[in-house]
Amino acid sequence: MSSRYEPVIGLEVHVQLATRSKIFCSCPVEFGAEPNTNVCPVCLGLPGALPVLNQHAVELAIEASLALNCQVRNESIFARKNYFYPDLPKGYQISQYDRPLAERGWVEINVGGATKRIGITRVHMEDDAGKSMHEGFKDSDRYSYVDINRSGTPLIEIVTEPDMRSSEEAYQFLTELKQTLQFVEVSSCDMEKGHLRCDANVSVRLRGAEKLGTKAEVKNLNSFRFLKEALDYEIERQIALVDAGGKVKQETRLYNPDTGETAGMRSKEEAHDYRYFPEPDLVPLKVSDEWMNRVRARMPELPQAKRKRFIEALGLKEYDAQVLTAARPMAEYYEKVAAVAGDAKMAASWVSVELQGLLKGTDIAASPVSAERLGELVGLVSKGELTGKLAKEILPKMAETGDSARAIMDREGLKAIADTGELEKIIDQVIAASPKQVEQYKGGKTTVMGYFVGQVMKATRGQANPQVLGNLLKNKLG
Ligand SMILES: [Zn+2]
Repeated sequence: MSSRYEPVIGLEVHVQLATRSKIFCSCPVEFGAEPNTNVCPVCLGLPGALPVLNQHAVELAIEASLALNCQVRNESIFARKNYFYPDLPKGYQISQYDRPLAERGWVEINVGGATKRIGITRVHMEDDAGKSMHEGFKDSDRYSYVDINRSGTPLIEIVTEPDMRSSEEAYQFLTELKQTLQFVEVSSCDMEKGHLRCDANVSVRLRGAEKLGTKAEVKNLNSFRFLKEALDYEIERQIALVDAGGKVKQETRLYNPDTGETAGMRSKEEAHDYRYFPEPDLVPLKVSDEWMNRVRARMPELPQAKRKRFIEALGLKEYDAQVLTAARPMAEYYEKVAAVAGDAKMAASWVSVELQGLLKGTDIAASPVSAERLGELVGLVSKGELTGKLAKEILPKMAETGDSARAIMDREGLKAIADTGELEKIIDQVIAASPKQVEQYKGGKTTVMGYFVGQVMKATRGQANPQVLGNLLKNKLG
């Protein structure tokens, strides 16, 4: 990329809220249902049908807003956004315009080791449209079909400030956003099901310039990979255009994953094209401080705060803290293991390495070893009753049998040998059988110590307490 230019990126992200029913009627929200079965006069947009706001949807939207550090308005207004589309039977979408639910938030991302804040301009609520289906039918060459099931599904739209300067930053932002929203469980954020949809506003300008260039809106960025590829393509396209003396057109462009290119779709509509006006069928949405605080009180600790606490209070490495806070079930599992084990650092490596090896990609919620049981095992290692090697043998047996570590130890006679007398006997035998290595050690080759440790471990089937063994060996070898 030419270093004379800098890209400026803002995102608009639509997120489907995890409610059971739609935003203005009681029809179920269900993915993959038989077309046009989850519908009623309200979401079909029949004349005279009146919307009733779903309280749970509002609470999830408030949670999302708070998690994104936004200020939630005490009063916000629903507005009609008028446009015609075959999958929008009302002829308008119920959205929010000049008084959205929440404003002025931020999300922190990590850019080259430094923290950068991406501003959130606003979070507003709206209903989703239905779906036009142009393919997959015998007569698709002549007809399009419409499925209204999705109509009325509750969404929030999250609009960012134009704060991102590369496709990598946009990727990071979306990753962080998705993780946060999943953590507070306001949405599954399943991109394959369209629960998280992303559009990007992209412009370029000469590096150091204040004024923003003309932006194009890129749509159809429905995976993290597409987002990155589409942005890279669009940035290059605009730079080449501007560099050759041309002008970027303000337009909506569609990303085509098959070609990796964006193509002009239509000139970008302005807000006034939608003829927004306050929705006359809904009263203003009032969110009292008391209600907001009630919602805030039941929210979990957010992943960023958790990560910070894991590093500062528990002494974990940045990387481990990252892995262990990647998803809420993982973080909760780890915290239980650490509490039972009484050793946060050791618990971190057991959950992020040994347990992951055992799970082989299965969901941690379906782990064959409970957090309490793993905590007990780690605690035994931490207290020196088991060696790490023995514990690693016991873990898969726990998964297989469902027994506790203690039960398996008792049954198989496994425990760390910390009895010095017993260990000394074995050490003497090893030393007597290895005159060459003893000579090397005495000659200053201390690395040969590993050989002796290995021999004793072999003779004890890995049961020697490593600390006691290390001390005894050093004494014996002088
Ligand atoms: Zn309905």
